[in-house]
Amino acid sequence: MPDITIPPVVTQVLQISFFALGAYAVAFILGLVVWTARDISSRTRDWLVRILAVLLVLVFNLPGLLLYFVLRPRETLAEVYGRALEEEALLQDIEEQATCPTCKRRVAQDFALCPHCRTPLKSRCASCRRLLSPSWEVCPYCGQEPGKAAAAPAAAKGQAARRDEATTPAS
Ligand SMILES: [Zn+2]
Ligand SMILES: [Zn+2]
Repeated sequence: MPDITIPPVVTQVLQISFFALGAYAVAFILGLVVWTARDISSRTRDWLVRILAVLLVLVFNLPGLLLYFVLRPRETLAEVYGRALEEEALLQDIEEQATCPTCKRRVAQDFALCPHCRTPLKSRCASCRRLLSPSWEVCPYCGQEPGKAAAAPAAAKGQAARRDEATTPAS
């Protein structure tokens, strides 16, 4: 068997490339971990889940990251917040999809009268002829005040002050 002597230059080059490879691997894993930490932070406020996700990627690296993709919460906190706002707005819309105060039946937003019992639901602006909600102080389309000039249906609501005359026993 011929005696093979490796020239020192080759070992040096090999050492340097191994070192570079190691440094690259460390940086790569660190990058994955940092990315995971940021991603999970945007998806949950639970610290235990955050730590577990980071550990998963730190220990198992790429397979861990794949597993993380499968297991992570589908929505980010911002998305959850946005959806909550959307649902709230929808709910408000449904609530505002007024019911007739007299017969309690569903009426459309732009009905001036209840089609079932003829209760007036909206008044009409004297100036621009658009429909106004009885609770509006002023026409939002032209600035006309419903009380003035026009004979708007009296929607003055007397706010009865309630007085509780309860005698509190002295202790
Ligand atoms: Zn009605
Ligand atoms: Zn108007």
